[in-house]
Amino acid sequence: MQEILPGAVIGILGGGQLGRMVAMEARRLGYGVVVYDPDSFCPAAAIADKHWIGEYDDIDKLMDFAATADVLTYEFENISSLALRKLEEESLLFPSAAVLEICQQRVREKEFLSKRGFPTVSYRVVNRPEELGAVAAELGFPSILKTAQLGYDGKGQVSLSSIEDCFLAWENIGKPDVALLEKRLELLAEFSVIIGRDHKKNVSFFPIPRNFHKKGILDFSIIPSGLGKRLEKEAMEIAFEIASALDLIGLLAVEFFLTKNEDIIVNELAPRPHNSGHFSLDICLTSQFEQLLRIICNLPLGETSARCNGLMRNLLGDLWRGDNQPNWAGLLKLPGLKLHLYGKKQPRVGRKMGHYCIVGENIEEILTLDSQALQLLECQ
Ligand code: ADP
Ligand code: MG
Repeated sequence: MQEILPGAVIGILGGGQLGRMVAMEARRLGYGVVVYDPDSFCPAAAIADKHWIGEYDDIDKLMDFAATADVLTYEFENISSLALRKLEEESLLFPSAAVLEICQQRVREKEFLSKRGFPTVSYRVVNRPEELGAVAAELGFPSILKTAQLGYDGKGQVSLSSIEDCFLAWENIGKPDVALLEKRLELLAEFSVIIGRDHKKNVSFFPIPRNFHKKGILDFSIIPSGLGKRLEKEAMEIAFEIASALDLIGLLAVEFFLTKNEDIIVNELAPRPHNSGHFSLDICLTSQFEQLLRIICNLPLGETSARCNGLMRNLLGDLWRGDNQPNWAGLLKLPGLKLHLYGKKQPRVGRKMGHYCIVGENIEEILTLDSQALQLLECQ
């Protein structure tokens, strides 16, 4: 494949914050940007040359959109795989439709991983609500029932502590066609490996963040992970093998659990930029968004080492009080704090509105600044 040079047009399927940040990096590099998203106010629309408003299964519209771009990528996983396969016949699309098909459906993803011997949590596939009680009793409690498709930020999941919890569980996750039941593990830590793999099978890794969740949503990430070289190396090897098995061209985020027994378990995969990689905008020479662009355009991989330490914290709609925005001016006084807002108009509980990244050398100082920032956000 030829290099796709600045001046060409990048087509992004999905116009959320991930698409917006890909678009901003594409702009900086001198590319044109077109975005496809059903929401007329989606965050990436403000950055794109053109925003196509359409549904993700409208094949004709998707084809028209694709014809306006030199290369396509996606930031959103719930695109009809039939539509993606069609797009791939006419356009360059990275990562491939085959990769998305595996990662967009939890059952396919878990089976892909476990068949190849990658470490996963014990799980069962549940096809019908009537089966749930027996399957859950056999797997053992506590467990988590997850919808196979469309879940994100802890949505589409319920915890099961006993057989009684099974009765409403299927309804509570939106009556899916199929669901995944996982053993609930006691976690020592969560972290993620973000790997880029190019057309020539060269790979690059981002520094590994340690991730802290609240109510199933990523709350903050710290770099470095503090997990030690041995665990990090083991996780990078697993991520490398997964990317190779997928024959990935693009970015892949591999979410990991570290269990109480210090076992490394693969939680899930995302073949796109990942929330836990946002720090790369502020502490790496090449961000995850730029790396994706370099890869899909067949350009050299960028350098990704961390230039300093950092903490990335998500800013959810919960921080807004009525019409009052959080105290941005106060936050911006803090040294080393970089604020990123996604331009979303409606702050809703649990909605990702932005993030900040605090950069520095000393982790204690970074944590102190983070608690000052939290205080400013809470008292307004
Ligand atoms: P999402 O697509 O919403 O990110 P995940 O499967 O990653 O879905 O679950 C979100 C979070 O819920 C995880 O990051 C973790 O904190 C918790 N979680 C999910 N599955 C398990 C599990 N099997 N055991 C313990 N915690 C889990
Ligand atoms: Mg996850």
